[in-house]
Amino acid sequence: MRIRLPLQLLALLLLSCGASSSRVSTRQAGDIEVVFLDVGQGDSTLIKCPNGRRILVDCGSTSSPAPDAAAIAADLKQHLDATSPVIDVLVVTHPDADHYNQLTKVLVGISVKRILLPGSAEDQEGRDDLINQYKVSKFNEWLLARNQDIRWVDAENEVKASKAASNLFFTSDNDAKFYILAANVGGDGGEKNGRSIVLKVTFKEFDLVLTGDATKATENHILGKYSPPDDDAPDWLDIDFLKLGHHGSRSTSSQPNWLNRLKPEYAMASAGADNRYGHPNNDIVSRVGPHLLDAPPHRIMQSAGKDQPVLEVAGYAKSLWVTCANGKIRLTSAGQDKAAVVSVDRN
Ligand SMILES: [Zn+2]
Repeated sequence: MRIRLPLQLLALLLLSCGASSSRVSTRQAGDIEVVFLDVGQGDSTLIKCPNGRRILVDCGSTSSPAPDAAAIAADLKQHLDATSPVIDVLVVTHPDADHYNQLTKVLVGISVKRILLPGSAEDQEGRDDLINQYKVSKFNEWLLARNQDIRWVDAENEVKASKAASNLFFTSDNDAKFYILAANVGGDGGEKNGRSIVLKVTFKEFDLVLTGDATKATENHILGKYSPPDDDAPDWLDIDFLKLGHHGSRSTSSQPNWLNRLKPEYAMASAGADNRYGHPNNDIVSRVGPHLLDAPPHRIMQSAGKDQPVLEVAGYAKSLWVTCANGKIRLTSAGQDKAAVVSVDRN
């Protein structure tokens, strides 16, 4: 099928060509690697911890036609143990199909040790209600069969602002650490996107934030909790790389005060070509642009039409990526501050 890309995305492809040779990712032993899989209009991120653990955050898509689940599975499996593929932790940020509906197809033959979902049910009946929110592709049935592996997370699990809280998943000092900045904001019956689990991943001096479809309410919740930093406390919002919230939506997420506080040097958005939502939105590019490593000189083009994605990224070719233009995006870091190597499938 021929995929039509907006002219500006084509410009991105062309502009990126010249930079490709210097950005080939060569992961060294001991580096962290983060793979943003190309799932069309949806989300899926694999984190390969230096100590060998594999964390999968979401796997879903509402692209039509649907993406090739077998291809996504093959892509995922090449990053797992060939004889005994394992996902140590699966995080499903919230119960929207574009974040989970591929999982039943993609996880075939892969064992999953622990599952994190947003929620705060105290009894089995409440848990069943929460699980039944994931009906698409019968993911609720898949979850019910793994009931004992599910860990529900909410505000109680958010990292405390004032102290160096314990690592959420693992304890090794030399490995990547995972912290929850927000979970289930608004409660079990709240608006789905706003309930997104927002994860901070820290590896030595390198920090990355994965937002799911976090809304302004979630962003404000985080800003209220962790800003301004106190002199003795860690600055939980000092980050290097941001996965833009809600596929780069303008109206729901990535408000200026959020981006101005996080000041990411690198950013990406996961969105499908020609998606009907206009993700990622040009306004987001202009909001995050000044913070990016290679921001100036830059120029934001006017939108070609209502709700059309417009990306003029002449100044951002080394610090902003979009799956609909670049395909799979791979980031590696040795853990130094502001230092990442990113390679893409398509230039
Ligand atoms: Zn989404």
